[in-house]
Amino acid sequence: MLAFEMERPRSLAAAVEVLGKYGSKAMIKAGGTDVLVWMRKHAVHPEMLVDLSEIPELRGISFYPHKGIKIGAMCTVNQVAEHEDSRRYYGALADACLSHSDALIRNKATVLGNICASVPSGDMIPPFAALEAVLHVFGREGERDVPFADFITGPRKNVLAPGEIVVSATLPLPRGRSAGCYIKLGRRNALDLAQVGVACVAIDGEKGREYRLAYGAVAPRPVRASEAEDILAGQAAPDAALLEKAAKAASAAVNPITDVRASREYRFSMVEELTKRAVSICAERLHGGNA
Ligand SMILES: Cc1cc2nc3c(=O)[nH]c(=O)nc-3n(C[C@H](O)[C@H](O)[C@H](O)COP(=O)(O)OP(=O)(O)OC[C@H]3O[C@@H](n4cnc5c(N)ncnc54)[C@H](O)[C@@H]3O)c2cc1C
Repeated sequence: MLAFEMERPRSLAAAVEVLGKYGSKAMIKAGGTDVLVWMRKHAVHPEMLVDLSEIPELRGISFYPHKGIKIGAMCTVNQVAEHEDSRRYYGALADACLSHSDALIRNKATVLGNICASVPSGDMIPPFAALEAVLHVFGREGERDVPFADFITGPRKNVLAPGEIVVSATLPLPRGRSAGCYIKLGRRNALDLAQVGVACVAIDGEKGREYRLAYGAVAPRPVRASEAEDILAGQAAPDAALLEKAAKAASAAVNPITDVRASREYRFSMVEELTKRAVSICAERLHGGNA
């Protein structure tokens, strides 16, 4: 039997106090869809669970055209999937939310819980990388902002100090007309983790067309394929030869492992295939005015 206590503080300050009191014996719980599973599998043994669900400032999503979308720590995957501005301006994130688990789990699981779990196959990771999210963190030392590119340091590892809470994340609005998508390759359609996840964002900005490409489940940390992005830059309708070149560059940027879900070789070839598909989808969406 699992023996643990749980507290539901009503303010951030109270949460940080409990976390400080219990130190390494405490763990944060948002939706609990990872933490409770890990506890049941005896992978973690917290004596104190700090449940964030009663802290008002962690709820809600807001959209400011000049700043972007701000997602609170207790926003569920379904809330973000259904949010009008998320669907309209953040296609890669909305797609990723809909690819996560099933409708029941999505009502519990939070977007930021997925990020804080920092599991390489997490579906929120590629869109957060491609959309250049910034995490707003609160702890005993005060507040700090962490660019998502610096947040995850390895499988299940991130830069959060003990007792720190991610309060919210801001995803800046891409500067220009944009389209995005997330393609998840799994062994089946629901309730499976990604074998490969690819997020693409295409932006028609001041300097012409820009592509951003980010990958999950193919390296210990999130990957941006900057060489592939450079190859595609300026190309509104990349032809087959250019797509092939970009796909090869993307594959050179990842370093997958073989595990129960897929082999290293399969992941390399799927990175190439999904890169071509994701770029084509975004180019088509911008061309067709669906962005
Ligand atoms: C049946 C099932 C299917 C699943 N399918 C998928 C899937 O398709 N894709 C996928 O990516 N994942 C999947 N998962 C994993 C899980 O649902 C997600 O990772 C989920 O988004 C985690 O969110 P949560 O709110 O439940 O996190 P929790 O379990 O509450 O927390 C996860 C981790 O993050 C920490 N944490 C949470 N919030 C904060 C915060 N605000 N600040 C600091 N630390 C924090 C916790 O301490 C813990 O270490 C699945 C899980 C189950 C049980």
